[in-house]
Amino acid sequence: MFLINYLLPISKENPNDAVIKSHQLMIKSGMIHKVGSGVYSWLPIGLRVLHKVIDIIRFEMNNIGCLEVSTPSMQPFELWKKSGRHSDNGDLSAETLVAVDRHGNKLIYSPTAEEVFTELFGDCIKSYKNLPIVLYQISTKFRDEIRPRFGLMRGREFLMKDAYSFDIDQKNSLKNYENILKAYLKIFKQCELSAIPVLAPTGSIGGDYSHEFHIVSDTGESTIYYDSSVINDIENQNISLENLNSYYICEEEKHKYNNKKPINIKGELIETKSIEVGHIFHLGTKYSKSMNVKVQGYNGELFYPSMGCYGIGVSRLICAIIECYNDERGIIWPKKLAPFKVIIININNNCEKCDQVSTKIYYELNNMGFEPLYDNTDDSIGKKFARADLIGIPVQIVISTKNIKEDKIELKFRQKIESIFLEQENIINYIK
Ligand code: ATP
Ligand code: MG
Ligand code: MG
Ligand code: MG
Repeated sequence: MFLINYLLPISKENPNDAVIKSHQLMIKSGMIHKVGSGVYSWLPIGLRVLHKVIDIIRFEMNNIGCLEVSTPSMQPFELWKKSGRHSDNGDLSAETLVAVDRHGNKLIYSPTAEEVFTELFGDCIKSYKNLPIVLYQISTKFRDEIRPRFGLMRGREFLMKDAYSFDIDQKNSLKNYENILKAYLKIFKQCELSAIPVLAPTGSIGGDYSHEFHIVSDTGESTIYYDSSVINDIENQNISLENLNSYYICEEEKHKYNNKKPINIKGELIETKSIEVGHIFHLGTKYSKSMNVKVQGYNGELFYPSMGCYGIGVSRLICAIIECYNDERGIIWPKKLAPFKVIIININNNCEKCDQVSTKIYYELNNMGFEPLYDNTDDSIGKKFARADLIGIPVQIVISTKNIKEDKIELKFRQKIESIFLEQENIINYIK
């Protein structure tokens, strides 16, 4: 991409309503654009990051055999009556966004999709032979939050990966629950986050068992309590449900329920603010029973499948990554998620030779799949560097008349103070 033709509305000022770093930086770096309270557009650079996060999530879900589908955002109210989540008397939660069609029928803008998936499963799967099955989607969710704030951290329209598992019995669905928990930890690790799975209440989604995934951060809206010694196991991806349960790890409500008396602390009890980036629930037969979805068993008898549901707040995850990876100059993207891996900064834009060298390097990198961005604008040197730092590209290739004369090209790194100088032909090899 050439910056001169790019949509990158960088701003210096913090927007009035942006009080946390990720919100400020997403707006200032031109990743997102505010449309209204809690609703945002993704701009090109933001969308590139979003797609990378989605790719990671999709890969890990597919890797454990989950199947991607896409269900509508508009859900008939009738479905919610079937599951009993809402009744005719209209006890819709205040967060549920409702539309009324021309015939006066109510439609719910999906805040989650247990009903749609349970019915889909029931219509398509008739035999135990097809189990287990996990279906998922990555789609827009709607919640009319009382206080939409912090940008996409608490939006009214946001992206979620939601998955739904169906098994022959509780024992098997807990196995699925564990597999997905492990896949989640892999996903967060690839985003260079250390997510802590904490025991949590099941709330309005229901079920009998649930874990939230939290990222430690001062700006988080949640509070968690955990045994410091669990971190080692998480970092080493050495987590099973059994060993997780051997540690005291609770979110606030669970901790209160335990009368704030932790047991079995092996290291130190940590209390910290955190961001909830994911949530998984073991549902059992709550939805299959209420929606009367049955499958034929081994002996021909009908049974209610045991279910689980599993969410990742995809857009919130990006906010959490920025909360963890920033400095006074801007965002510092983890390598895998950077919108561009390399930015070529031509600081003498009117020098023909500089443009030739920049363009040559640009195409070489591009052909190798290195996703370069070429800053070929007329902006001042200061502005170019400040912008590259703000948007957080890991590697900056600096081209100038002086360097070209000495056959040296400067390589700067977002995370290091010192640059290195290389001959032109060695640049590509070095970056590889
Ligand atoms: P919170 O406690 O922050 O309100 P929640 O518990 O209501 O979240 P879930 O129903 O568990 O959310 O949804 C799954 C995931 O979707 C959450 O773990 C979170 O990462 C994300 N999420 C929920 N609400 C929002 C929102 N308003 N904006 C962005 N992401 C959200
Ligand atoms: Mg909520
Ligand atoms: Mg919550
Ligand atoms: Mg939750």
